[in-house]
Amino acid sequence: MVDFSLTGEQEALRDTAHRFARDEIAPAARKYDAGDEFPMDICVKAFGIGLMNTVVPDEFGGAGLSRLDEVIITEELAWGCMGITVCLMVNNLAATPLVIAGTPELQKEYLGPLCEEVMFASYCMTEPGAGSDVAGIATTAKKKGDRYVLNGTKRFVTAGGVAKWFIVFAYTDKAKGHKGMSAFVVPKDTPGVTIGKKEDMMGQRASNTAEVIFEEVAVPAGNLLGREGDGFAIAMKTFERSRPGIAAGGVGIGRSAMEQAIAYAKQRRAFGQPIAQFQAIQFMLADMAVDIQAARWLTWHAAWLSDRGKPSNTEASMAKALAADSAMRITTDAVQILGGYGFSREYPVEKMMRDAKVLQIYEGTSQIQRVVIARSLLKD
Ligand SMILES: Cc1cc2nc3c(=O)[nH]c(=O)nc-3n(C[C@H](O)[C@H](O)[C@H](O)COP(=O)(O)OP(=O)(O)OC[C@H]3O[C@@H](n4cnc5c(N)ncnc54)[C@H](O)[C@@H]3O)c2cc1C
Repeated sequence: MVDFSLTGEQEALRDTAHRFARDEIAPAARKYDAGDEFPMDICVKAFGIGLMNTVVPDEFGGAGLSRLDEVIITEELAWGCMGITVCLMVNNLAATPLVIAGTPELQKEYLGPLCEEVMFASYCMTEPGAGSDVAGIATTAKKKGDRYVLNGTKRFVTAGGVAKWFIVFAYTDKAKGHKGMSAFVVPKDTPGVTIGKKEDMMGQRASNTAEVIFEEVAVPAGNLLGREGDGFAIAMKTFERSRPGIAAGGVGIGRSAMEQAIAYAKQRRAFGQPIAQFQAIQFMLADMAVDIQAARWLTWHAAWLSDRGKPSNTEASMAKALAADSAMRITTDAVQILGGYGFSREYPVEKMMRDAKVLQIYEGTSQIQRVVIARSLLKD
């Protein structure tokens, strides 16, 4: 059976998220982008109405929503501003490895406080020398008695400067290749943890992206997620669940840019008629609608599979590749339709174009999504 209808609860969630995006996020988007400022007041409001920690299980105080619910919400929030949406959603990324592989004690210790007050947590994989090549990380974790001692530098950590704890991937046994990678929870106040430089980014500037440095950072052995060597598998399972959320962000930005382009094309006149009358403009709008619909269905399908515990790695990559590339195409065409005004900061589409770009880069570049898809096509 194929059924694309939403439940009453999902429609209510979508409407709540849309109202929040319309009333709180969109009006403030320009300010936080221009000021390169973390939107703490918006996070406080979103937390208050349950729009953070959406996939944290309800037994720890989270909303306990499904991945399909998450992508429905994310599309609406990203319609308002993707930079602010990333701040609201980052906890879902950091919580997922704990949900996948944390002991009940560890889950309670770290997921519980995340849902009690506005707090952030980050996911630390990327390093100065390794991004796409996850197995190329250099951070190490050496067992010393009942502790692991971590050393390494993580780069481009979303919410790195505001997070209270980190999921850190490190080698416990480099000789085993990716099978020697492990994952740890590391509280920010552990001696040896320092926050390095904050990135000055092209887009999604409301989001705080920073370097996090670990020097002789000792954590209890119990902060290991799963067993030694499980880290790479935990990271891949996390991406399988989280990539549809990024894809939904692309759908949201694309929708917003298309709406701006339609409104402008109807009122802007050239050669004696609204530019919406020109077929060249109409075809760009039509392609936007096709991309948005296709990306949304792929995104919902990947999330739906994930909710049923079915393998969805390839589908998550398909959704992310199409949604990210579509968001880039749509926002670029929206700038084109607005002409010189599109290029000006007076209108919001230039910011959408800047925000869309990084969707093709983080949580696996568009090339890496294609590597994943091709691998599944070519395997015996
Ligand atoms: C705003 C922002 C937020 C981020 N947040 C986080 C975070 O919270 N946590 C985290 O761990 N990381 C985060 N990242 C890092 C992000 O995941 C990496 O930047 C990304 O994975 C790419 O890695 P890289 O930048 O090292 O590029 P590289 O891996 O060096 O890639 C450079 C280019 O080579 C291409 N390439 C590489 N390998 C292949 C291949 N096999 N086939 C074809 N092409 C290839 C890439 O597609 C890309 O075009 C963030 C990045 C940004 C910009």
